[in-house]
Amino acid sequence: MSKVMLITGASRGIGAATARLAAAKGYALCLNYHQQQAAAEALVSEITQAGGQAIAVQANVADETQVIAMFEQLDQHFGRLDVLVNNAGMLETQMRLEQMDLARWQRVFATNVFGSFLCSREAIKRMSTRQGGHGGAIVNLSSAAARLGAPDEYIDYAAAKGAIDSMTLGLAKEVAGEGIRVNAVRPGLIATQIHASGGEPERVARVSPSIPMGRGGLPMEVAEAILWLASEQASYVNGALLDVSGGR
Ligand code: NDP
Repeated sequence: MSKVMLITGASRGIGAATARLAAAKGYALCLNYHQQQAAAEALVSEITQAGGQAIAVQANVADETQVIAMFEQLDQHFGRLDVLVNNAGMLETQMRLEQMDLARWQRVFATNVFGSFLCSREAIKRMSTRQGGHGGAIVNLSSAAARLGAPDEYIDYAAAKGAIDSMTLGLAKEVAGEGIRVNAVRPGLIATQIHASGGEPERVARVSPSIPMGRGGLPMEVAEAILWLASEQASYVNGALLDVSGGR
């Protein structure tokens, strides 16, 4: 039987690259998306036409009711869960902290932090050996921003990713005895559409000269790290924050 992986925010970017690599490695996939239904369904078609297994499930990860419904769809379709990738994330327009308002911080924390908390809670209920599950792995998407702070751009996003680091460290210890490993990747500057939502689509080109390796990363280079942390090859890796950032 194939192992089942749920990837949040799999319609594009790092999540879609992770889905393609996971399908190639034989995982059955539950691909969550928020707004881009056509992109998610095209990815499902691509995977199934190549002989893989995948379904697309719409849910806003910041909405508790929708997250619970998504996991119920996963239960009905696959009947098991082996890996959760908490990839869904967002940021807002670049600005200084004193220009930001509370509503923005609530949106940024709702998706980036509470979305990962909600999905982790539902995954643990299914994977924990203490609750009748057979163990598994959680891989969180943090960011190099958690340690760089993102001044003049989005300190709120950086702080949300800092919260993901803390959650990773705590949860890794909390469920280590229940067959679940919890780790995070901290990507640096990766070429996806997320930078356009910050108001600077060409951010990768601007910042690349300051990266020790002299270039931004590709979504697939992050996917490789995610798949390794999820795999049996990482069987003794727990609570790790793995930088995938070209030395930045
Ligand atoms: P993209 O903006 O390219 O894609 C974001 C994905 O998240 C989309 O699939 C989107 O769904 C989904 N998403 C956004 N909000 C929600 C929500 N509320 N509920 C469910 N899904 C949602 O981002 P990246 O691929 O660049 O980023 C992926 C992860 O990696 C994020 O957590 C990000 O913070 C992190 N990261 C990215 C870096 C980079 O340089 N790109 C650097 C460091 C970390 P839809 O399209 O359907 O709306």
